[in-house]
Amino acid sequence: MVDVGIIGATGMVGQNFIRLLDQHPDFEITTLLASEKSAGKRYEDATTWLLDSEMPESVKDIKVVESNPDKVDKNVEILFSSIPSDFAAKIDPDFAKEFVVASNASAMRMKPHIPLCIPEVNPETLDMIDDQQKAYDWDGFLVTNPNCSTIALTLTLKPLVDNFNINRIYVSTMQALSGAGYNGVPSMGILDNVIPYIGQEEEKMESESLYLLGDYENGVVKDAPFNLSASCHRVAVINGHTEAVFIELDKEEDIDDIKSKMANFQALPQELGLPSAPEYPVIVKDEVDRPQPRLDRDACNGMGVTVGRVRKDQAFPNSFKYVLVGHNTIRGAAGASILNAELINERIL
Ligand code: NAP
Repeated sequence: MVDVGIIGATGMVGQNFIRLLDQHPDFEITTLLASEKSAGKRYEDATTWLLDSEMPESVKDIKVVESNPDKVDKNVEILFSSIPSDFAAKIDPDFAKEFVVASNASAMRMKPHIPLCIPEVNPETLDMIDDQQKAYDWDGFLVTNPNCSTIALTLTLKPLVDNFNINRIYVSTMQALSGAGYNGVPSMGILDNVIPYIGQEEEKMESESLYLLGDYENGVVKDAPFNLSASCHRVAVINGHTEAVFIELDKEEDIDDIKSKMANFQALPQELGLPSAPEYPVIVKDEVDRPQPRLDRDACNGMGVTVGRVRKDQAFPNSFKYVLVGHNTIRGAAGASILNAELINERIL
């Protein structure tokens, strides 16, 4: 077993790490870290547990420690990080001097030599790690996963990019409240309401998607050669981001062929049989009223992205559209980091 720790263990994403890592076949949680406010307390006392499954017995008595590398047992090999981005900018690199860090925060994404990785989409970027260790003089290393709405989108786009020529993409999101963390959106602001702005979300979706779907050569990523425009909105759903996607191709393609390419998509995690990898990461539904967050967010234990309403766009030539739902704190956060760590464990450690 590989000993692992969680930085930000008391938070929304941290709790999902704990749930997903409980009974993991290769990883065992031995260390839990959070802010000074929680340090020194038993995990159960430090945490307002928000998930609908019980807090695992195995973590209740672990004493939460400050997010400082000196507080971490040297047997720990991998640290999952889920803390606010401004703190992550300092804390994640500090830990990467000694440990493998799989981070959810945006702070270090797309920095030179730091992979921004989805194992089904761009696993080759893990090759940056040698250069990273030399460039930063770290014994450990840092791998990041994308923003939650970007992960769901790019998983559905990867089989399309591999098989068709895309001219442009528009995406409009309806994002769940948990994406902003427990204290993120006041209830009086969101009930009976939609908020048409999520800070930096559109910029992240636009830049990260083109990076993820781009070409990797000699340590550098060249962005995918099409335009992608995002409009992001917060809605009163607890978990599960919904996205309406509009795509123009260079020529007319058969809708059934498009659906089949998505539904049959498999990649390296499936080939390697990584423990958290769904057999098919994109599930295509034919019912006219799917996907819906309440019904589809937990597909494949939250690691699958459900697509529906794949249809020709009658308004524009060579165009089609669809709707997707992905679980933002599982496939979009904790599960994404865990899948990265499983690939690292298989290929690098
Ligand atoms: P959250 O619920 O607010 O939790 C924040 C966590 O960070 C808590 O454990 C908190 O510990 C800890 N923390 C706060 N300040 C700290 C500091 N100065 N030093 C060390 N730890 C500190 O937030 P979240 O939703 O879990 O998000 C965490 C990160 O993941 C963010 O960067 C977010 O952007 C990213 N992310 C979130 C999602 C999502 O769907 N929620 C998706 C993708 C990425 P205390 O309890 O001790 O304060």
